[in-house]
Amino acid sequence: MSSETTVDVKTLELEHVLQIYRRLPVVFTHGRGSRLSADDGREYLDFLSGIGVASLGHGHPGLAAAIADQAATLLHTSNLFFHPLQGALATRLSALTGLERAFFCNSGTEAVEACLKFARRHFHTRGETHRTKFVAFTHSFHGRTMGSLSVTWDEHYRGPFQPLIPGVAFASAAEPGALAYLVDDSTAAIIIEPIQGEGGVRPVSPELAAAINAACARSGALLIADEVQSGSGRTGQFLSSGMLGLTPDLVALGKALGAGVPIGAAMLSTRVAATVMPGDHGTTYGGNLLACRAALVFLDALEHGLQDHVRRVSAHLFRGLRATAARHPNIVADVRGAGLIAGLDLRADAQPVINAALDRGLVVNRTSTTVVRLLPPYVVTEAEIDEGLAILEASLAAVKV
Ligand code: PLP
Repeated sequence: MSSETTVDVKTLELEHVLQIYRRLPVVFTHGRGSRLSADDGREYLDFLSGIGVASLGHGHPGLAAAIADQAATLLHTSNLFFHPLQGALATRLSALTGLERAFFCNSGTEAVEACLKFARRHFHTRGETHRTKFVAFTHSFHGRTMGSLSVTWDEHYRGPFQPLIPGVAFASAAEPGALAYLVDDSTAAIIIEPIQGEGGVRPVSPELAAAINAACARSGALLIADEVQSGSGRTGQFLSSGMLGLTPDLVALGKALGAGVPIGAAMLSTRVAATVMPGDHGTTYGGNLLACRAALVFLDALEHGLQDHVRRVSAHLFRGLRATAARHPNIVADVRGAGLIAGLDLRADAQPVINAALDRGLVVNRTSTTVVRLLPPYVVTEAEIDEGLAILEASLAAVKV
């Protein structure tokens, strides 16, 4: 594509696409591994992977071949019929999460939405119809549909869409002791991101994990782990909740699971699944052949060395980030994260650093105003990490926050 077509791309969007995203001025046209190419011929190192989605990197030959084969074979039949891949994927996910049943959907917010509905359905089936409330946390982000938005904390996302669903209380993630006062026998579920992504890459503290476990045990409330961003192997474990001492009854998955093909999944324990009835929930596309095929390719890769690779390169990434932070104590306040989700918390707005990095050929993004977030593809190499961190450091220096 020439720069003339870039103008066309932008003009067309301006005229006919709902202006709801603030896009950065780049038109990506193709990619390979951890690298993206733009229409002006520039190459970028992608440390964002489409917000944690392109887990196998770009242009992955095995994934591309499987998608092409599936497209030529059968793409979609609906959930009115069996097909050969959904049960196979559910079995693999069940083994990886320790939760016996899967409900497939198309996005993270739908996976969260399903978990919220299944939690309410669980108590309704048991005759505990007063148990309808949810407890979520400060700085949480669970998606944009009405249910997920209702348990999302930031007023910026919620405000224009009030009234949201009633009966949601927000506990302070910084005050584990206060959780006990919010959770009682009218609480259907506590919902937590084991590592908050949009909220600034903030892992649950051991104290908060203990308070959550105690509150669930005392009150009988279910625990929903939203692992849309932190799950599917991103932290080096398939789920990050286990690593943090949490044992959820329901888990929401999305993003990396489809490696770029939209898929979401709600995983349910046998106990919860037994209380959900045929017809209670559903979706036209959920778990279609294309999405399941892509997710199976991703899981194959994960189990054939990619998960070990994530752990190895993660150690390298965090060593590098901590060294960068130590060299720039006036700019960098904190380094947080695990595996291949990392946040560099700055002492000022992170956007100028993000822009400077993009100018220098590195794609990262900002969350929670001050945090530079890194979500590289799982295939990123140590050499690419060194290259990316050098660009990030040059961008910090250039901006002089
Ligand atoms: N939950 C978490 C933790 C997320 O990070 C996101 C998206 O960023 C969502 C839910 C919503 O996912 P989606 O944008 O696929 O609907």
